Amino acid sequence: MELLSIKKLDLENKKVFIRCDFNVPMDEFGNISDDRRIRSALATINYCLDQDCAVILASHLGRPKGEIVAKYSLAPIARRLQQHLKRHVALATDVVGEDALKKAKELPRHEVLLIENLRYESGETKNDEELSKKLASMADFFINDAFGVSHRAHASVEGIAKFFDNNHKAAGFLLQREIQFFGKLMNNPTRPFAAIVGGSKVSGKLEALTNLLPRVDKVFIGGGMAFTFLKQMGYNIGNSLVEDDLLEDAQKVMDKARELGVKFYLPVDVIAAEKFAEDAVSKIVTAQEIPDNWMGLDIGPATVRLYREGLNDVQTVLWNGPMGVYEMDKFARGSTKIAHFVADSYATTVVGGGDTADLVQRIGLDEEMSFISTGGGASLELLEGKILPGVAPLIVQD
Ligand code: AMP
Repeated sequence: MELLSIKKLDLENKKVFIRCDFNVPMDEFGNISDDRRIRSALATINYCLDQDCAVILASHLGRPKGEIVAKYSLAPIARRLQQHLKRHVALATDVVGEDALKKAKELPRHEVLLIENLRYESGETKNDEELSKKLASMADFFINDAFGVSHRAHASVEGIAKFFDNNHKAAGFLLQREIQFFGKLMNNPTRPFAAIVGGSKVSGKLEALTNLLPRVDKVFIGGGMAFTFLKQMGYNIGNSLVEDDLLEDAQKVMDKARELGVKFYLPVDVIAAEKFAEDAVSKIVTAQEIPDNWMGLDIGPATVRLYREGLNDVQTVLWNGPMGVYEMDKFARGSTKIAHFVADSYATTVVGGGDTADLVQRIGLDEEMSFISTGGGASLELLEGKILPGVAPLIVQD
């Protein structure tokens, strides 16, 4: 899949609207706790500035749901951007109101304007055409560099693209990199190719698993989703998370894996606890013998060893979803050990965004992975084989 490239646009001296994803996590004091998403957007912004452009940036932050909510203002983003770009970033007081439109119109080249939180406008998440049109009216070119929201048909992501022809829109460098990485993974991975799939539920990952099966050589299951498979195998899973309505689907996944010759690994032991809490009494039990009323909250040490053995010879690893409740130190060991092993391997290692990216960053292994996606939901939809609504208008048709 080839995307319209920013490199092919005649941007010199023009006004460019860049949809970014500055939806960064904030701590309880309102400080940005991780600015990876801001840093990831710099390549595209700097490229446009180097082309003598006037640059208009737009993003959402949190979920203000169409209301102006002060704590979701992009002011902290503007300040952080200013530090990274080492130049002034003007912040409009609204999204498509008088201030934003005036500032955008008067914006000279080499200057950067950030408009306010797109989700202050209720039309953003409704893909409202009027809103798209107003946003589009601000610039000559539209660049989508917001991979993290490209699975959403929103006014600034999908709707806006209609107002630009193919010579006036493109994917930014970040979006292009994300799509390329996942494209290579899905269509032409270096083998053996393993998927490590974890997280809370089967339901959230069923489509991705089904789509991945014909492409991978091995699958390693962890997290809460493992228990639906283990229950289907007739094991006693105690009080562990389970989706009874998906037992049959779990069986189908296992049958399909067998049919395709894909090695399907499930935990052989777990860390079980009496309750879902950091201070819970916990013990290591085999997957066959989780006591009644106890719940499995992490993979056990034998599973870690087994998965390491299985991962030993792989050349490509895709990891989506933690192996346990990694937010609690007590149940983060399985994920941590797998993360270290994956990071130390010579394989190409791709980490889906969201929780897995958060986990890898917490351990400080982010630099060791080949690629960490900036979008959890968006990367999952790519793994499901979907064409993202924000990407579709930027595909080169031949
Ligand atoms: P997901 O959003 O589906 O990727 O799931 C991520 C969440 O799964 C994390 O918040 C983990 O705490 C949770 N999780 C992982 N393992 C378990 C488990 N064994 N039981 C309950 N929740 C889990």
